[in-house]
Amino acid sequence: MKLHEYQSKQIFAKYGVPIPKGRVATTAAEARQIAEELGGRVVVKAQVLVGGRGKAGGIKLANSPEEAEELATQILSMELKGLPVRKVLVDEAANIASEIYLGITNDRAARKPVMMASSEGGVEIEEVARKTPEKIIKIHIDPLLGLRDYQTRDLALGIDLPKEYWRDFSKVCFGLWEAYKNSDGTLAEINPLVITEEGKILAVDGKMIVDDNALFRHPDIAEMRDLDVEAPEEVEARKYGLSYIKLDGDIGCMVNGAGLAMTTMDVIKLYGGEPANFLDIGGGASAEKVAAAFRIILSEPNVKAVLINIFGGITRGDEVARGILAAMEEVKPKVPMVARLVGTNAEEGRKMLAKANMITAETLVEAAQKAVAAAKGGVQ
Ligand code: GDP
Ligand code: MN
Repeated sequence: MKLHEYQSKQIFAKYGVPIPKGRVATTAAEARQIAEELGGRVVVKAQVLVGGRGKAGGIKLANSPEEAEELATQILSMELKGLPVRKVLVDEAANIASEIYLGITNDRAARKPVMMASSEGGVEIEEVARKTPEKIIKIHIDPLLGLRDYQTRDLALGIDLPKEYWRDFSKVCFGLWEAYKNSDGTLAEINPLVITEEGKILAVDGKMIVDDNALFRHPDIAEMRDLDVEAPEEVEARKYGLSYIKLDGDIGCMVNGAGLAMTTMDVIKLYGGEPANFLDIGGGASAEKVAAAFRIILSEPNVKAVLINIFGGITRGDEVARGILAAMEEVKPKVPMVARLVGTNAEEGRKMLAKANMITAETLVEAAQKAVAAAKGGVQ
């Protein structure tokens, strides 16, 4: 789950990371009032779950409360990378002398969290990694030992941070690490961490992603979820316990098991198709769940064919087919459907589906080829 900038910074602040004074507003009038309270220059920042808001025009400096109101009006009517702006953060403006990057994520290959720092802050870190990878300093954190003092000094040294800031920088590193660890983060990032003209270190931006599977032990974070800005299909899918991720292609996929779903997508691509989604309906999927999955897949106007790939293990093939047929009764799909069923009673299940005019297949390769052809209009 991605957190907004203002939410991420609030969590960082709890762990002692200095952040600018400010609050979030949903109307321009509110933004003006916050600017009045802060007294002076403020920065008005679009709260959307995408990066590069600055470049896209979603971050503006205001010299007065009137200007803050005007800019908030503009920003609140914007769409950034397809997402509507519903909230703005109004922060005391910082006088930035230099910008640093600081972030933590999991390094799966190393099986450890990795903390990264760079003197090239403010720019997207992927760009720094591409153009000047030597400017990213990394240290791995042993999960049992935690972050060590000498490691934060290694980072400070690596990014040529002047000595007088080492102590404060180290505090920020420890704060970020504690925030990441205690929230079950998969990403915690400050970009930029700035040094102000007044010689203070300040986290001007913040981004955090929390492991969905750990949300049950962080009810306070789970509550921060912003349904407004998530893809509505993903919200609907979560309601039914389905794992759904929207993609750009035109072949809808309905599969049981995450591994099988990934394989299905790979095989579709191998035969020249593009999956429209990742969808794992889980084990023992009921007709109700299958119907919800159909509704979600077919709500996407791009979808030109659907590939159903079910391995009947605990659930028998004929039961799965009955579920699919019941769901089709309800949803009445208008695009070609290709089904591959294997496992117990698969034969029986396939026959039931074929009778209902579905295209059936015995192997995944055959199913993928038929789905790709169907999406291209070759099979009806
Ligand atoms: P992002 O573009 O989505 O990463 O949003 P950021 O919060 O990182 O802001 C983008 C850029 O705007 C920063 O790198 C800064 O250069 C600038 N910026 C953000 N806040 C302030 C501020 O308080 N004062 C000044 N002068 N610049 C700011
Ligand atoms: Mn940023």
